[in-house]
Amino acid sequence: MTAVEVSDFAGWRTAARHLLASDTPPDQVLWTPGLFSGETEAGAATQTTTTVPKEFLQTAKTVALHRDDRKWPLLYRVLYRLTHGERSLLKIDIDDDTRELNLMEKAITRDMHKMKAFVRFRRVQGAEPEEFVAWHRPDHLIVEALAPWFADRFGAMRWTILTPDRSAYWDTNELRFGPGVPRSEAPPADELEDLWRDYYASIFNPARVKVKAMKAEMPVRHWATLPEAQLISSLLAKADTRVNQMATSQKTSAAPFVPATRSISELQIAAPNCRGCELYEHATQVVFGEGPSDAKVVMVGEQPGDEEDMKGHPFIGPAGRLLSKAMHESGLDREKIYVTNAVKHFKFIERGKRRIHAKPTGIEISACRPWLEAELASIEPELIVCLGATAAQALMGREFRVTTDRGKFFPHRWGKELVATIHPSAILRAQERAEEEYALFVKDLQLIAARVAELDKAS
Ligand code: SF4
Repeated sequence: MTAVEVSDFAGWRTAARHLLASDTPPDQVLWTPGLFSGETEAGAATQTTTTVPKEFLQTAKTVALHRDDRKWPLLYRVLYRLTHGERSLLKIDIDDDTRELNLMEKAITRDMHKMKAFVRFRRVQGAEPEEFVAWHRPDHLIVEALAPWFADRFGAMRWTILTPDRSAYWDTNELRFGPGVPRSEAPPADELEDLWRDYYASIFNPARVKVKAMKAEMPVRHWATLPEAQLISSLLAKADTRVNQMATSQKTSAAPFVPATRSISELQIAAPNCRGCELYEHATQVVFGEGPSDAKVVMVGEQPGDEEDMKGHPFIGPAGRLLSKAMHESGLDREKIYVTNAVKHFKFIERGKRRIHAKPTGIEISACRPWLEAELASIEPELIVCLGATAAQALMGREFRVTTDRGKFFPHRWGKELVATIHPSAILRAQERAEEEYALFVKDLQLIAARVAELDKAS
């Protein structure tokens, strides 16, 4: 019997390679949880060159995050079988090992989904610069795997996620990890927690109350750390009255979900919970504005595209790349500009596997306007640049025509001035006129760069 001490995926992989090289059958290996990675009694064996299906490696990485230590022998058993004549094992769902592997993988995926949904950051009182902290109790060992997602999503915030197993810290530049902490060491409630409570009260839709489904989506064990969960019983008690009220005043608006704050970070945290219109139901995630919170220029587009929807950042798809190129050629520094959209969720229609952009309706645009107004009120830009008719009409009214008013500077309540030009996606659609349209677009941006310099001088 070969004894193997293993604590993480890297350690398991090293051990598994050595065991395969010496053709050690799974029933001859005793896997024990250890503190160190990669140190095994099988370490002296020569490494194997056996190839393993890619999908198994990905699954193995995920399953390694499971809390149950039976994962290590299971992973080796599956690996051994895959490399000993059962190459299609992963396709046989009824096989006991495959089924257990799939169940473990699903449990991790679900736990990650819950952590993304239930981590609630609270502002640390008195911290300067702003610091946010959250306490969460995941079922599995997912903190390090998921921390990059939070760093990407909340990249401009300094935050700490405390869990009983590990803690993750992001300083807007680098991720660091430390030991876990008990619930008692999480900081006390503060106003951000009240904010979350207000929120939940405002998004709570009594017409859709299904307690069983609610418990499945928001497991009771998480309720202790979710400020909004404390409201559930009183909200349920008032549900009938609210249903009646809602029946008489059905409105579509983001307003109830927009917190009364001038902090872009708080707006950004709040936006994923918006249910102001139906667009959130099919999109992957909300795509909020990004850029410096004291930007002099705010650029407003229509809505996120397919790539933005998948990755959660505005203007990173083909139109965004074209915009960056044109900005660069016009002397505008994208790093200094806040970019956002009039509508924060991707609207599309499905054609086979493709998701085709669909224009948001006037109702959806005005439903989402409270977010745009909150961003503008927070940033107080000198110049608002509307890219395309949707953005321009959201801020200038439905009579505004980009074709006739393009490149003209108008005074505006949310900035000193507002100017409109075309959306870069119009250039991508222009086919044989694309070059000409691009040149005109760069010309508009040059005008804008010159106007920014003038406004700078005057201020
Ligand atoms: S599109 Fe705007 S209003 Fe509609 S759900 Fe998304 S964020 Fe809310």
